[in-house]
Amino acid sequence: MRTIQHWIDGAETRGDSTRAGAVFDPSTGEQQAEVLLAESSDVDRVVAAAAAAFEEWSQSSLSRRTGILFAFREIVNRRKDEIAAAITDEHGKVLSDAAGEVQRGLEVVEFACGIPQLLKGEYSDQVSTGVDSYSFRQPLGVVAGITPFNFPAMVPMWMFPVAIACGNTFVLKPSERDPSASVLLAQMWAEAGLPAGVFNVLHGDKVAVDGLLDHPDVAAVSFVGSTPIAQYVHERGTRAGKRVQALGGAKNHAIVLPDADLEFAADHLAAAAYGSAGERCMAISATVAVGSVGDELIDVLDRRSRAVRVGPGREPGSDMGPVVTQASRDRIVSLITSGEESGAKVVVDGRDLVVPGHEKGFFVGPTLVDQVDPGMEVYREEIFGPVLAVLRAGTVDDAIDLINANPYGNGTAIFTSHGGAARKFARGVKVGMIGVNVPVPVPMAYHSFGGWKNSLFGEHHVHGPDGVRFYTRAKVVTQRWPELERDASFDMPTAR
Ligand code: NAD
Repeated sequence: MRTIQHWIDGAETRGDSTRAGAVFDPSTGEQQAEVLLAESSDVDRVVAAAAAAFEEWSQSSLSRRTGILFAFREIVNRRKDEIAAAITDEHGKVLSDAAGEVQRGLEVVEFACGIPQLLKGEYSDQVSTGVDSYSFRQPLGVVAGITPFNFPAMVPMWMFPVAIACGNTFVLKPSERDPSASVLLAQMWAEAGLPAGVFNVLHGDKVAVDGLLDHPDVAAVSFVGSTPIAQYVHERGTRAGKRVQALGGAKNHAIVLPDADLEFAADHLAAAAYGSAGERCMAISATVAVGSVGDELIDVLDRRSRAVRVGPGREPGSDMGPVVTQASRDRIVSLITSGEESGAKVVVDGRDLVVPGHEKGFFVGPTLVDQVDPGMEVYREEIFGPVLAVLRAGTVDDAIDLINANPYGNGTAIFTSHGGAARKFARGVKVGMIGVNVPVPVPMAYHSFGGWKNSLFGEHHVHGPDGVRFYTRAKVVTQRWPELERDASFDMPTAR
């Protein structure tokens, strides 16, 4: 059995780990590897290595940092198929989707290559006679990233390129369900010439997470995962005096107006609901049909849902792979059943889907559920599977009210050909990322990614300008080079 080890101070190591977690192949249902789970002494070891590396790395010139970032970009680009294959094997998503996730991560590396421009401060000449002021930003120290299973390469890459470019050192605690991509990325950093200890990977569970949250030498924590854990990480980390950004779960609605192109909307809704088996924090899991459009929309979605090809991620014909674990599969099936029992209509049912030759794989087929009511569990819960719930609303205002009553606020989309309605929607929803005829509006690397309400705890979104702000803190220097005048005053300094 392959053992996936930590990456600490530039090398793979077992550390003190005696426990291990199972890593499955979701398409067969079989265990394919084990991943070490860190003990508290491993947390101390990795933080000590990152703290030691910070001394030199934080002083390295911007040219040196960008040189290494450009080299890393080239290596990831050259080896992206290898990363994508590791993702497909452990997560289950189809290869082209895994390659897309690596590409979106690479875009953050490219953004971080512009760090000299991003870290430029401000300068005010002659704020008082003979006095100038300037501001600049400095790195925080050792920063940690705790990441979910659903994007094992992209979500860590939302964080570490920016953190490292800013001069911090990084400890990644990836999901224990699909840990291999993070080790490949560590090897690529080493090949790019990043000094040992600047980027580290510590595998583990709650022991590793709590150790990082409590460690006095960890300055900041970026977290992405489910809402209860995001809230916990934010509370525990900030109580320990750290800067914390914690991105949580989601329930993303798309509203469809009667003036939308229904074929176009249904194509995009099916892709946004069932792509990656619905295991995206920006997946559309609720569609709100506005006005008279409901029945016609269900007809078109019914056809689209049945046309999705489900199979192993490595098989070229598959549109959608399995979900990540048997437990996840069982939970999705039971949520669909609870919807049915509370009066919703299961129009397309993926509960009993079997993929020939992969009978033990963790497959659930695309599922379309109509006549869903906001009180039902199938609506209230983040299902994180290939399930699209359809609700009805009388007007755009009613649809906006429905979205705003939901505790999550990650992403949302409107399908319409009416500019005024789209503008009203974008201004009225309490959601962080909005698409107009774009179902999965994930911002590009040079904007920042983040939701509202229970989808984000903390002030900063990830990557883009907010990422640079999160991983640095500002200084303002007021300086005078006196020409030997003795003019010190006991009064509050004012400009002269
Ligand atoms: P998760 O919350 O179970 O795990 C996330 C991380 O937290 C993992 O590294 C895990 O090891 C750790 N963890 C889990 N339980 C813990 C505990 N009790 N104490 C301390 N640490 C713990 O999430 P997941 O199932 O891996 O990922 C799916 C979730 O992530 C979904 O809710 C999804 O919406 C969310 N997500 C959100 C975004 C976003 O940008 N908002 C992006 C991707 C995923």
